[in-house]
Amino acid sequence: MCVQVVLAYGAESDKDLGIPGESLSGIYSAREFVWWYNGHPDYSCLKPDLKTSDSAVILGQGNVALDVARILLRPTTELASTDIATHALSALKESSIRKVYLIGRRGPVQAALTAKELREVLGIKNLHIRIKQTDLSVTPADEEEMKTSRARKRIYELLSKAAAAAKTSKADPDQRELHFVFFRQPDQFLESDERKGHVSGVNLQKTILESVGTGKQIAVGTGEFEDLNCSMVLKAIGYKSVPVNGLPFDHKKGVVPNVKGRVVSHTSGDISQTEPGLYVCGWLKRGPVGIIATNLYCAEETVGSISEDIEEGVWKSSKAGSKGLMQLLEKRKVKKVEFSGWEKIDAKEKQMGIERNKPREKLVTWEDLLAAAAN
Ligand code: NAP
Repeated sequence: MCVQVVLAYGAESDKDLGIPGESLSGIYSAREFVWWYNGHPDYSCLKPDLKTSDSAVILGQGNVALDVARILLRPTTELASTDIATHALSALKESSIRKVYLIGRRGPVQAALTAKELREVLGIKNLHIRIKQTDLSVTPADEEEMKTSRARKRIYELLSKAAAAAKTSKADPDQRELHFVFFRQPDQFLESDERKGHVSGVNLQKTILESVGTGKQIAVGTGEFEDLNCSMVLKAIGYKSVPVNGLPFDHKKGVVPNVKGRVVSHTSGDISQTEPGLYVCGWLKRGPVGIIATNLYCAEETVGSISEDIEEGVWKSSKAGSKGLMQLLEKRKVKKVEFSGWEKIDAKEKQMGIERNKPREKLVTWEDLLAAAAN
């Protein structure tokens, strides 16, 4: 019999900056914030500080940074018809955050954004976009990057257009502001004098770009610093996968080492060291990059490897497969939810959503989820 196991548990931790003050309260990873507004049971009690000041800082300029900026800036009347968790919607209704600063250590040509996601944010009602004109000037190396990447050129054009449109629009006191701040890297977090242990801002170092060959430019500190005050910081600098005891893990790359989805024991990627029957897909296979479509292609590759191995009868197993797994879980008294239980949760959330005019109402405690699965 053939038994295959596919590791598909993604990236459930975060990269650290490793700078002073990172453990102050009021600093969250974007992942924690996303899990909070999406109703993850372990984060529904996060209570992010949305009421102390009018400013929030988001570190990083990728799509996750855009996602969290959108939640902070979109009118709550619009969020109400999405599947956002109710506790998050209530907190956002009371939020005093009016200014969101998206901080990038490189320039507008290097922002790790995609056009569709950027357009969505730029299109938020009653939102004033702020971009310094000087940050939009491009160097020959930037021109070169844009020549080789249409996507980068598109992002640069969208940002330039947004900056130009903002210059001609009238100021409205009710408007919220999204500041794209380029060429700044966080150096340390500042502690509030009034609230000990709480963040009151970020000290940023100005940067310039240096070419490192192959068309890439990296940010280098200039030794000039400035403070940016805020009461909340979201770190959106990338996710990180976590190892599982007994399974191969490449700590440097943060992935399970593999060749086309076949898990290998050593990080050298030597195919002869394949772990029989063990496969991997998604961010755990490639690292935390790529949109949903990227994951679809990635999964196809892994499924292709599984099919080839079955056809070629590469290995046989005496293990008991899913039946054996269920027996082991029973023996160890591990609580489990099978697919039929997941379907019941899905149906219940959708039903509750219909009653509230939204796509679904999330169940946000383990107790409620397990009760729905058992019904
Ligand atoms: P990301 O795209 O890798 O962006 C990370 C950002 O953090 C970059 O601006 C990066 O700057 C910056 N950064 C990294 N380390 C830093 C440091 N030490 N100091 C300062 N800045 C630092 O990661 P992500 O936003 O977490 O997104 C992960 C993947 O999910 C991406 O492929 C993204 O497109 C995808 N995603 C897609 C969607 C969607 O399609 N709707 C939504 C969310 C996420 P540098 O470029 O200088 O390294």
